[in-house]
Amino acid sequence: MQSDLRGIGMTSQRTRDRLAEILLEMGIESEIVLDVIRNAPRHFFVDEALATRAYENTALPIGFNQTISQPYIVAKMIEVLIEDNELQKVLEIGTGCGYQTFVLAQFAKYVYTIERINGLLIRARERFRKLNCINILTKHSDGNIGWPAHGPYDGIIVSAAPIGVPEPLKEQLALGGRLIIPVGEPGQQKLLLITREEEGFNEKLLDSVSFVPMLSGIDASR
Ligand code: SAH
Repeated sequence: MQSDLRGIGMTSQRTRDRLAEILLEMGIESEIVLDVIRNAPRHFFVDEALATRAYENTALPIGFNQTISQPYIVAKMIEVLIEDNELQKVLEIGTGCGYQTFVLAQFAKYVYTIERINGLLIRARERFRKLNCINILTKHSDGNIGWPAHGPYDGIIVSAAPIGVPEPLKEQLALGGRLIIPVGEPGQQKLLLITREEEGFNEKLLDSVSFVPMLSGIDASR
C-alpha cells in the first residue's frame, strides 16, 4: 500500500487497532468486521486537517453539511447485514465520503451506492479509484427511489434517516434480503432491520440512533 494510505503517527496501525478494540468493547463481535475496520484507511476519507481524528469513534464533518458515519454504527450495521448471509449485491443510500462504501465492498461482490450531493460523490469516486475498488458502482440520484436496474439486492444499507421506510427500497430486496435503515424525526430515530420473507416483511428494532435526515431530490453543487 502507498505510504499515505498506511498512515503514520495518529493514523498509524496502533491507532487503528485501538479503534477496533473500542468497537469490540462496545459489543461488535464479528472478527471479520473488526478486521476490515482495523485495515480501512479512514483518514483517507476525511479532510487532511481532520486526519489525526480519523480513528476516533466519532462522526466528523465531510463538507456540504454532512458527516462521515461513526465507525461503531458502520460496524454494527454491517455485522447485522452479513450475519448468515451471502452477499452478492448490496445497495447503499448516502455515499457521503465513501468510507462505509469501502468497508461494504470488502464483504459484497458488488456495492451499488447512491448519493444526492454531486460534490460529495465526485470526491468519493476519486477515492475509490485511488483505492482500486473495482466492485463499487456509484450514482448521483435520490436514494428514495433506490436503483431498480440492478436489483434485487441481498442487502440495503441506508445512511440517512427518512421519516418512514421508502417502499421502493423494500421492493428492491431479494427474498431473504435485509434492509437496515434509520427512521424517524431527529432526536427520536430508530434503526430497523427489515427482512423480506416469502409472504411480506419481518421488522425488527435494533437500536436508537442519530443520523442526518434523508432528503428528497438531488443537489448538483460541486
Ligand atoms: N456513510 C456515509 C454517511 C454520510 S452522511 C459516510 O460515512 O460518509 C449521509 C449521506 O446521505 C449524506 O452524504 C447525504 O447527502 C446523503 N443523503 C441524504 N438523503 C439522501 C437521498 N435521498 N439520496 C441519496 N443520498 C442521500
